[in-house]
This record gives sequence, structure tokens and C-alpha cells, in this order.
Amino acid sequence: MHSLRDLLQDAQQTGKAIGHFNISDLVLLKAVFAAARELGVPVLVGLSEGEREFVGARPIAAFVRSLREEFDYPIFLNADHTHSLAKAVEAAKAGFDSIVFDMSALPFDENVRQTKQAVEALKTINLSMLVEGEIGDIGTGSEIHDQAPDLSKGLSTPEQARQFVESTGVDILAPAVGNMHGMLRSMVRGETKKRLDLERIASIKRATRIFLTLHGGSGTDDEDLRKAIAGGINIVHINTELRVAWRHGLEQGLAKQPDEVVPYKILPSAVDAVKQVVSSRLRLFNEERHFAQGV
Ligand SMILES: [Zn+2]
Repeated sequence: MHSLRDLLQDAQQTGKAIGHFNISDLVLLKAVFAAARELGVPVLVGLSEGEREFVGARPIAAFVRSLREEFDYPIFLNADHTHSLAKAVEAAKAGFDSIVFDMSALPFDENVRQTKQAVEALKTINLSMLVEGEIGDIGTGSEIHDQAPDLSKGLSTPEQARQFVESTGVDILAPAVGNMHGMLRSMVRGETKKRLDLERIASIKRATRIFLTLHGGSGTDDEDLRKAIAGGINIVHINTELRVAWRHGLEQGLAKQPDEVVPYKILPSAVDAVKQVVSSRLRLFNEERHFAQGV
């Protein structure tokens, strides 16, 4: 079985990206795993602190490990947006494969100091665990927003990125490159799309030569995603699109069978709705590309 680091290296060399999908119940996990298996591509499942609180860090780690072993399948588990060392250590001890240590709300120097400390602490628990650091402002909340936040002042610069990577020793960097957490209503309706700063992505890649994650991928223009991956993005996070599909699928399942009380007869509608979104995103992330930059 290949490690997550090997798979990221493969993705980098072939110009593909690994899809990262947030889950907070078995409907979402089933849908993500089924979509990935159908396409035969590696996949990352992520849980933020709130999602871990609901599901339990140890139970979900055991569940994902069990899928990986039973099906001999490259499914990995990421502790998304972790805002304290205590929570990061908890996830590392539970057996997560990677951690997003997010101190991006702090001043840059303090972010560097705390992230460096976390990298050292986490590697002593599990040397092969990957640690991702965050710089810049991409907003909060993978949900539907009424208004777009002004994130223009929080974009990451190549110089900042290089300094952060060199000083902290992170394995993966998440920059602010026009991406944003959550979706606007017009994006949910499909009328508008997020656009990325593709030049900034390419210059950050050149400056750091490290694996890059794009957070807040929901609602992003397909062509921008393709170019971002070709320009050096190795992991793309999708959450809000799944949550919207989960809700619609669940509503349909309930409406179709108004007298049904058996969960496993109602929930497949939600699984199918989420699976469609995951499949279409995974297809795009795993298209054959002719151009890729080396790490
Ligand atoms: Zn995120």
C-alpha cells in the first residue's frame, strides 16, 4: 500500500490532484468511498474540529482504516482545520494520516512559531504523518453565505509562502489564492463561479516547491480548477457542494416515502446525490494532463 506522500508525489508527476471531501456521517463517507472506488482513484476524507466532535476522532479513524484494509484501497484521513496543538495531538494519536494545522488567523510570525512547534510535536507521534500549514485569509464556514467576504487583503504572496515553508518545516501549504470557504447563493444556483488567481498559484509553487492544497473548492470554475492543478495544486477540498447535495438528497428520500421510518431505505437518496457530486469532481481532478511542475 502506498503512503499518502507517495500518492501526492504521483499526482504531482501526472498533473492530477487528490480530492479531499469532508464528511460528518456515514452517508457522506459511503458516497465518497463508492465514487472513488468506481473511478479507481485515491481519495482523502477530512473532518474539521466540529465534524470530529460529532463523529468522534477515534471511531472514524478506525472506520477508515478498516475500509483501507478490507478493500486494500488508498483512502486516507485528514484532520481538517485544527486550531490547537491539543486537538492536533488527539487526531495524531487517533491515527489520522495528515493534519491541517490552521493558525492563519494569527499574525504571520506567530503563525510561523506555533506551526513550527506543531510540526515538531506531531512528527514525534507519527513520523510519516503529513502536516499542512495555512497562510492568508480564505474566510470561514463551509456553508451558504449571503454576501462575499472581502478577502483581497489576505492573499498569500510567494515570498511569504517561501518564508513560511522554510521556517516551519510543513509538508503541505494551503495558500490564499482567490479561493474561499463556503458558497454564495448564486453559486449554489450555478449562476456564478469562484475564480482563482492562477498566476499567484504558479509563483507560489515556484517559490516553495512543496505540495499545495486548495481549500474552499466548492463552486469553483472547472477550467480554473484544471489550470490550478496544472500550476501546482495537489489537493482540492470540497465540502459545501457535498453538504448541499446531502440536504437535497435527504429531502428527496423523505418526500418520496412519506411513511417510511427505516433509515437504510431513506438514506440511499442522500448517498446517491452526494456520490454524483464526488464523482464529477474526482473525474475533473484526475483528468490526464500534459503539463505539471515538479516538487
Ligand atoms: Zn478549508
